[in-house]
Amino acid sequence: MSSWPTGPRDVIIAIDATGAKTQSTHMTVTLPIYMDHMATTPVTHEVFEAMRPYFCERFGNPASRSHSFGWVAEEAVEQARAQVAHLLGCKAAEIVWTSGATEANNLAIKGVAAAYREKGRHLITSQIEHHAVLDTCRRLEREGCEVTRLPVDNSGRVDPTDVERAIRKDTILISIMAANNEIGTLQPIAEIGRIAKRHGILFHTDAAQYVGKLPLAVDDWQVDLLSASAHKCYGPKGMGALYVRMTKPRVTLVPQMDGGGHEKGRRSGTLNVPGCVGFGAACALAERELQTEPARLLALRERLRDALWSGLDYLRLNGHPTERLPGNLNVSFEFVEGESLLMALKGIAVSSGSACTSATVEPSYVLLAIGLNAELAHASIRFGLGRSNTEEETDYVAARVIESATRLRALSPLYEMALDGIDVKGGLRAC
Ligand SMILES: *Cc1c(COP(=O)(O)O)cnc(C)c1O
Repeated sequence: MSSWPTGPRDVIIAIDATGAKTQSTHMTVTLPIYMDHMATTPVTHEVFEAMRPYFCERFGNPASRSHSFGWVAEEAVEQARAQVAHLLGCKAAEIVWTSGATEANNLAIKGVAAAYREKGRHLITSQIEHHAVLDTCRRLEREGCEVTRLPVDNSGRVDPTDVERAIRKDTILISIMAANNEIGTLQPIAEIGRIAKRHGILFHTDAAQYVGKLPLAVDDWQVDLLSASAHKCYGPKGMGALYVRMTKPRVTLVPQMDGGGHEKGRRSGTLNVPGCVGFGAACALAERELQTEPARLLALRERLRDALWSGLDYLRLNGHPTERLPGNLNVSFEFVEGESLLMALKGIAVSSGSACTSATVEPSYVLLAIGLNAELAHASIRFGLGRSNTEEETDYVAARVIESATRLRALSPLYEMALDGIDVKGGLRAC
């Protein structure tokens, strides 16, 4: 089989509805193709232009109250705060700037645990949270808290009745993510919010993957704390926000960063003014695009899925078939070694179902939690579609994946046996 050209302009093979490679067309794609938008997103040019003046000219410290340099910076930061708040459906005063969703998660969970210590020491979360939540909970456990980690079903959903059953007299916080970064599954946040409210327990959601991708309102969800990250929605890295409810109830937090008492004492440190401006602009842009972009990404995702399923057998869709982020497709390719497939997809930026720790390659704990074995987890790929991706790119990626997986499977005796009807380690049927 001829190798794929790797030049900057590349002719792609069109795939018809049956997945058959039909004919060369004149569609072109530029390599490398970025299809990993759950890991990070580029700063949109419009966002960058909004940030630009706040580096060299409007460089003032928003905490400087005695001159116009400070006032100009403060005005920009407050406008940005209002833009973020508008997207979340909250008051500007309820937004605390942070260095990202990691810090927002730390501040929410540790801040609540410290502030409500007298009320209790029990927290409820799920097994598939981001490390920023899981590791924060683990640290609190070492410091005397108790944590219930709820399992998820095979689509990655937490059962709200499990949440209700886990509630104890000493439960102080429920923390469940809005959308999973690996499998894209959306959680029933509004249902969990109702339960939390009924029991008078604070509810935090890590919405780093959700904000800007789908519409949301903190009151519809009845969340009390919500974490967001700028670089997941076309803003700058190192910038995030925590929503902290001010009324009904008024949430109190013990700050985790001590210093000059910025952010009404909730998070000290001179603000990253260009970062705030960029996050605000990214939210305003995302809000405009919420009219069209989710539907466009959903169509692209279904196009990619249809193409893969017509061109290959023994695939498994990881995550929920419909309750998932529009741009997320996570697929296990049975009888294919994940790393080999990634290597074969040079020029296409996607993620695998493995996490490289310092010493070993571990299968994703999220994929294990939805019932995959380690082998299948390693044979998984996450496609993260975003603003830059086109139909041409989607078709090109599908064709490359089909070609590579087919080639790798041709070397697999297990795949041959499965085709002959031999039940290999209870493998997947074509599904
Ligand atoms: C990316 C991500 C985070 C971490 O956000 P940073 O801003 O990179 O610290 C936390 N939670 C989820 C679900 C994420 O996807």
